[in-house]
Amino acid sequence: MTILPPHRLDLAGHRRRNGVVPWVAYHGDDGRDRLIEAVEAADLRGRGGAGFPTAVKLRAARAKRSIVVANGCEGDPLSQKDVALLTLSPHLVLDGLQLAAHAIGAAGAVLCVHAGSPVTAGVAAALAERDDRVPVRVAEVPRRYVASEETALVRYLTSGDARPLGKLPRPAERGVRGRPTLVSNVDTLAQLASVVLLGPHHYRAARTDLVTVTGAVRRPGVVEVPAGTSLAGVLAAAGGEAETVQAVLAGGCGGSWTTSLDGGVTGLPAVYALPVRACGLAYTAKVLAFLAAESARQCGPCTFGLPSIAADFAELLRGGPAADRLARRLPLLTGRGACAHPDGAARLAASALRVFDADVHTHRAGGRCRVPAGVA
Ligand code: SF4
Repeated sequence: MTILPPHRLDLAGHRRRNGVVPWVAYHGDDGRDRLIEAVEAADLRGRGGAGFPTAVKLRAARAKRSIVVANGCEGDPLSQKDVALLTLSPHLVLDGLQLAAHAIGAAGAVLCVHAGSPVTAGVAAALAERDDRVPVRVAEVPRRYVASEETALVRYLTSGDARPLGKLPRPAERGVRGRPTLVSNVDTLAQLASVVLLGPHHYRAARTDLVTVTGAVRRPGVVEVPAGTSLAGVLAAAGGEAETVQAVLAGGCGGSWTTSLDGGVTGLPAVYALPVRACGLAYTAKVLAFLAAESARQCGPCTFGLPSIAADFAELLRGGPAADRLARRLPLLTGRGACAHPDGAARLAASALRVFDADVHTHRAGGRCRVPAGVA
């Protein structure tokens, strides 16, 4: 069973294609245990980027008055997989949301999407078709990169402020309005439903990843590939290279540049294929400027660090001597913020310096790169 159908499924179509959740097998407290054990046996991990074991999160949030938050915001502009999922297969996500709510004994659920998201009407229509045990409301969250970080969602649903809260307490301890809260990406919830509909062992054997592929490929968009497919295979699933690719940004805006396309990867929400005619440093500078502008400016690494490294990259492009300063600054960003936003920017910048090292020297020598127009 693939996660993504070729066209949108209503409830009847979803049940014909994917089956019906066998609720009777998961009845009562024993059933909750069996459900979490099935998730553990499937080795399901979060699809929002962190890859944390879902069974551990479910156990941590299991409590009276708990709540489930489905994260369908997708703040990374390079990723569209959650939008594709909520558009084409909303009922698979909603089945997973109900299963997660049942597993932790939740009394309520919220499905978060970005304000103005194209999926809102379709999700509302899907909810209207269902008669779920746990009520689900849809919340529209400000369209900011860090607003979809899990503690930012908790804070927004509690107080209307969509900035990250920091590392402690975790949402499972004290989340929305002080209640134990499970925050789970909608892709993870769809996978959770698949675990139950297929059975954990069949699921493990047939596991797939949704990846948004952009850049120099023939068919940019969301592809579904077997877990562990190489980056070369991911590009092939998007129609193959439309022109020669010099490097791939694996993991979205907070990901890493690489030229190694043959090893197996899993859990990457997005990859961008940089054509050989483009400048990797210019593209990185553009993404870093975006990440600096999207910070919530609560912590030092974001308030001072991200604008500094964005400025350093702009200086590199002009041929300035910023590489040594970047090498000193980047380690100071990692692990210092209240959320992982600066870590992603530091990872991106460090990988760019490594992969585009020759371009750094070319810029330094001539003030401009080998790419005529500095195409980003
Ligand atoms: S690290 Fe940045 S984005 Fe994260 S909480 Fe601090 S200021 Fe906000």
